[in-house]
Amino acid sequence: MSFLKSSSENSWYPPYLPVLLGWVGAVLCVMTLAGGAAYTVIRSDLARQQQDALYETSVSTRVLAEEVANTVRHIDQVLELMRNDMENIRSTERFDRFLQTTLQHKSLRTFITDANGYLLQQAKVSDAVPYYADAPFFLDHKKSLYRGMNISDPVLQRENASQVPVMLFSRRVNNAQGDFAGVVAVEITAESLAGFDIVEDTLYARLFSLKLIDGLEVFTAGPPQERRALERADSDPLAQSLDGQRIEPGSKFADGQNRIFSWQSVGSYPLYVVALLPETTASEMNLDKNKFRLTTAVLILLLILVVGVVGCVVHLRSKAHQTYVQQIREAFRLAAEGMQEALYIVKPVYGPSRSVIDFVVEDCNDQAARRLGRTQPELVGKAISTIAPLDNEQMLEFMRSVLKLGIVEDELQIPGQDNPVPDQTTGGWIQRRGVKTQSSIAITVRDVSESRKQRAALATMAVTDALTELPNRRWLIDQLPEKLSLADKNGKQLALLFIDLDNFKAVNDTLGHKAGDQVLTDISDCLRGSVRASDILVRLGGDEFMVVVEAIDDFTNAEERAMRVLNAVSRLNDTASWGAFSVTASIGISVYPIHTTSAPELLQFADIAMYAAKAAGKAQYRIFNHDYAGALQRRVQLQQDLQKAIGSEQLRLYFQPRVDSYTGIVTSLEALARWQHPLHGAIPPSEFIPLAEERGLIIPLGEWILECLCRQLRAWDDAGLRYGRVSFNVSGLQIKNDRFRVSLLACLTRFGLSTRSIALELTESVLGTDSAVMVEELTHLQDLGIPLEIDDFGTGLSSLARLQHLQVDVLKIDKSFVQGLGQDMKSDALCNAIHSIGHALGIRIVAEGVETLHQLEQLRKFGCDEIQGFLVSEALPAHAVAMLITGEPLLEPIEKKLMRFPGRAA
Ligand code: C2E
Ligand code: CA
Ligand code: CA
Repeated sequence: MSFLKSSSENSWYPPYLPVLLGWVGAVLCVMTLAGGAAYTVIRSDLARQQQDALYETSVSTRVLAEEVANTVRHIDQVLELMRNDMENIRSTERFDRFLQTTLQHKSLRTFITDANGYLLQQAKVSDAVPYYADAPFFLDHKKSLYRGMNISDPVLQRENASQVPVMLFSRRVNNAQGDFAGVVAVEITAESLAGFDIVEDTLYARLFSLKLIDGLEVFTAGPPQERRALERADSDPLAQSLDGQRIEPGSKFADGQNRIFSWQSVGSYPLYVVALLPETTASEMNLDKNKFRLTTAVLILLLILVVGVVGCVVHLRSKAHQTYVQQIREAFRLAAEGMQEALYIVKPVYGPSRSVIDFVVEDCNDQAARRLGRTQPELVGKAISTIAPLDNEQMLEFMRSVLKLGIVEDELQIPGQDNPVPDQTTGGWIQRRGVKTQSSIAITVRDVSESRKQRAALATMAVTDALTELPNRRWLIDQLPEKLSLADKNGKQLALLFIDLDNFKAVNDTLGHKAGDQVLTDISDCLRGSVRASDILVRLGGDEFMVVVEAIDDFTNAEERAMRVLNAVSRLNDTASWGAFSVTASIGISVYPIHTTSAPELLQFADIAMYAAKAAGKAQYRIFNHDYAGALQRRVQLQQDLQKAIGSEQLRLYFQPRVDSYTGIVTSLEALARWQHPLHGAIPPSEFIPLAEERGLIIPLGEWILECLCRQLRAWDDAGLRYGRVSFNVSGLQIKNDRFRVSLLACLTRFGLSTRSIALELTESVLGTDSAVMVEELTHLQDLGIPLEIDDFGTGLSSLARLQHLQVDVLKIDKSFVQGLGQDMKSDALCNAIHSIGHALGIRIVAEGVETLHQLEQLRKFGCDEIQGFLVSEALPAHAVAMLITGEPLLEPIEKKLMRFPGRAA
């Protein structure tokens, strides 16, 4: 294990090259040696074979020469005996038989001539004329006194037509006086004399030839081309020695082959035998043997080659594997050094009976060494039990379990003082992962304190509301079941207080989100202060809060909390920065296990109770009652019905006339929506408009109203009805983008109406908005020449600056103030103030909800411009209202006389 020490030497050649070259070299060497040895063996073999061939040839030659010598000697002796018989007893009868028996198979005959050459007797009956007077051998004997044997040149047999060459062996016969008396002779065929046939199988040469000493051929046995070769090879060898042999160079012969040439004289006779053997023939005779040797040599070389190639491949592969392992180690080393984790490689130390008693650090990276306040060389080789800042027992236990299980991963907390990281004094969390390798264990240690912290923070964040830092809805949903079972265990009840702010939307729309956020934090602080420490305050989202009241004995505890909350919120209004707005809360209470035992239902019931509180007039609490559930259901049902009603006959536009306060003549109309529900009958706009706003239905509803209105105006215009202009109510939600303006213009254009034939009624909160888009939209509408009227004036907080800036056309005094006229001082003062401001800014004042003559009288005194209310007429269908527009006064007209109030601007 040395992945921490650099082990790669970079070289310019690939790592397998030396191996390849080594193997090629070794194989070549061995092949050369083996080839050399084989060559030597085969060569010496060939040399020996040549030696053998030489020897065998010479033996064969000698054997033949011996054979011929025997025959000739025999004939010689017979001739001597025959001559003796002739000279002494003049009979030669017995010799033929004798010769026949002693020289078996030899084709021969004996004969005797007289001094004149006539045949006296012959052993073999022949048809030929036996006359030899002119035969050379006869003449030789006649001339010479020599009594030895004469050997003739080969001649063709005289008395035989077959023309077989024969040899004549003869001696001279003298008479008593010593004169020539004839010859005794033996005639033998050259072939018989040579006797080559008898030993043919054992002869060792291609060609044998029996010759006379002067080179004349007696008989030759062998293929024709060898006969021709003999003519070139044979050049009087006897001049050299009586017997011998030599290699005749191939250059002498037509086929270029060397030939063994062997010769042997035949006893003391003038004859000799020669033999000729081409070298190839000699080696052909050893062909099988040589082939075998050659094949063996080639096979051995091939074997060496194969072994070499296989060895080389195996070696290369193992080298490649080694390189691969090396590279992996190298990569691992680099990775280990670059790792954020500490890495230790440890090896178990075995005690007696193969039990693990300790572990030794085999290797580690820098991070690992640093963790333990050492350097890497200091740590390598150390036993775990001797490394100081470690909790050794615990560490050994961990390693043992890795050995047993293969992979172990855990996270553990390190107390501050024991934390081995020197620069970290506080405690933290580490993650350990041990993996068993072949003989060791690799352990990675990672500091996970930070990620644990983050995880914890994230977990908290997920259940915490960012604005108020209160637990959120998620937390409540997660925790509620647990709280409920705890209540069960303690035999207690648990109450949920669902708190919804009543007019937060107006604050938010008027003052903007930033102020809205401030309201929410103020409220949340206020709520926190109003409940007990043991109660849990949750922000559900928006302006909804929940108080979880645990361990109560009955409703009264919950009611008491609700009262405290209501009081606290109302007190807050006096001190809060939002000044003129008054924020109240509606609270719904559900109690476990009285109302339900299910957590989701408990939440839902608190919600329902809260709606009941709102419906009952807001700023109060309601304890859940199963009847409320029906109310909520109706609400949901109504919303669904409303969606279907839009565009149908169920929805209608009614019109309420507005008259001049003094003349009583109709000046304009207000369009008001009416919903005739098929089951529930007439549903007032105060109920269905908020429903529509809640579900976003106000947009399609608003467009439908616009369409109806324009169609109606077109019809009235066509009928020549002089209605002045018609104002209609627009929700703030409708001017959050340019959609309303675009469809308004399109609609007016479509029905050919002037922008002056309509007016928009907007509530005060819309006027006070800080939404840039809404302000821009209002300005655009204003620029188009569409009159803007402020509805329900006096209930909200109008920005006077904006009233002026937008050149508002009309202020409509909220009916609550009109109806308070003469009843309370506040209403009188407010109505007076509105008239002063309005007239100072050049804005017309309209009083709505005028029901009595007294109210009319008061308003006339303030200088009110228009009157709208039941005193004049309620809202009527289009055809009914049309009948009121006659130009006749709808009120008893009076002269306009302004009343002076103290402090009023002139
Ligand atoms: P608003 O704009 O203040 O409309 C005047 C309301 O006062 C109408 O109630 C009208 O019928 C009623 N009213 C008229 N004269 C008298 C009177 O002498 N005494 C009393 N007590 N009431 C009188 P309505 O029609 O129920 O409308 C309620 C509210 O619904 C309206 O208040 C308006 O804010 C809203 N609304 C009605 N129609 C529409 C509409 O088409 N679009 C929108 N966005 N809101 C509408
Ligand atoms: Ca209105
Ligand atoms: Ca109004």
